[in-house]
Amino acid sequence: MSQDSNASSATSGAQILDGKATAAAVRADVAAGVDALVAGGGRQPGLTVVLVGEDPPSQVYVRSKDRAATEAGFRVETVRMAADSQQADVEATVRRLNGDDGVDGILVQLPLPKGLDADAVTELIDPAKDVDGLTKDNIARLVLGQDGLVPCTPAGCIEICDRHGISLSGKDVVVIGRSHLVGKPFAQLALARNATVTICHSRTRDLEAHCRAADVVVAAVGVTELVKGSWLKEGAVVLDVGINRGDDGKLRGDVEFETARQRASAITPVPGGVGPMTIAMLLANTLETSRRRQGRA
Ligand code: NAP
Repeated sequence: MSQDSNASSATSGAQILDGKATAAAVRADVAAGVDALVAGGGRQPGLTVVLVGEDPPSQVYVRSKDRAATEAGFRVETVRMAADSQQADVEATVRRLNGDDGVDGILVQLPLPKGLDADAVTELIDPAKDVDGLTKDNIARLVLGQDGLVPCTPAGCIEICDRHGISLSGKDVVVIGRSHLVGKPFAQLALARNATVTICHSRTRDLEAHCRAADVVVAAVGVTELVKGSWLKEGAVVLDVGINRGDDGKLRGDVEFETARQRASAITPVPGGVGPMTIAMLLANTLETSRRRQGRA
């Protein structure tokens, strides 16, 4: 299946929110921002990714991040550490990067190998360089409505809405999933945009009823096609964050795309929807930290 086969096969029903095209537009804006920064006498933004161990999906993600960041004009470095690295060694790497003036963004690729404390490593990252938005400082800023760095996937969901003229103000938004990475930060972002937000999770009693009442459904669960089209209000907007690989090797979302597109007014496909936005927002965050750190925000 091509990356955007759902996007390109759409002929009726919902508007297909094309994340590949949206991410390309964000990346082009970031590249233009980098050019302007350098042309104005600033230095090239620097992004460093710390990769511990040999986890195959992580290797793929890191290669994609490296390629996208290089294309956007960043100085990119990947620090590769052995799977049996000690906690102290990983923490020492983060401390070194915190102290390196040329590094504007630090990303520790998760998950870390068993035995390493990912929370402790994340918390060591200088909040001004925390381009994944996962430190307590940046989480607090998000909750308090202060300027900070926002996790890339939920930021990507908001960006898709913004770039397609979808306003969340006054809307009933149902977020399925309460992870620190996606569900909770998206709920905060939607609240900041004056949505009325309900967060559902595995203990929610009647998920279908919540979905039926929603103007916007955001699914960040990790269960293939959990949300059926028949659960949706006519004209709902659907943002499907889920990435689930089936036995047939195909990627599917948390929403049953074919039935959902008949009722929704707009929907992100999987693949080719929210997925490509994550790296684009990582680049946007890194440009932002670089501008701030160079006093050129
Ligand atoms: P996660 O940490 O596993 O959280 C999943 C959430 O879904 C939990 O809050 C869980 O509830 C809830 N849940 C599980 N089963 C449920 C059910 N039957 N009904 C209602 N809620 C249920 O996952 P995540 O990191 O947020 O990721 C979610 C999905 O998004 C995954 O498919 C992941 O691959 C994908 N993802 C994509 C991107 C991207 O597009 N770049 C980035 C990140 C994640 P409890 O809290 O009660 O356990």
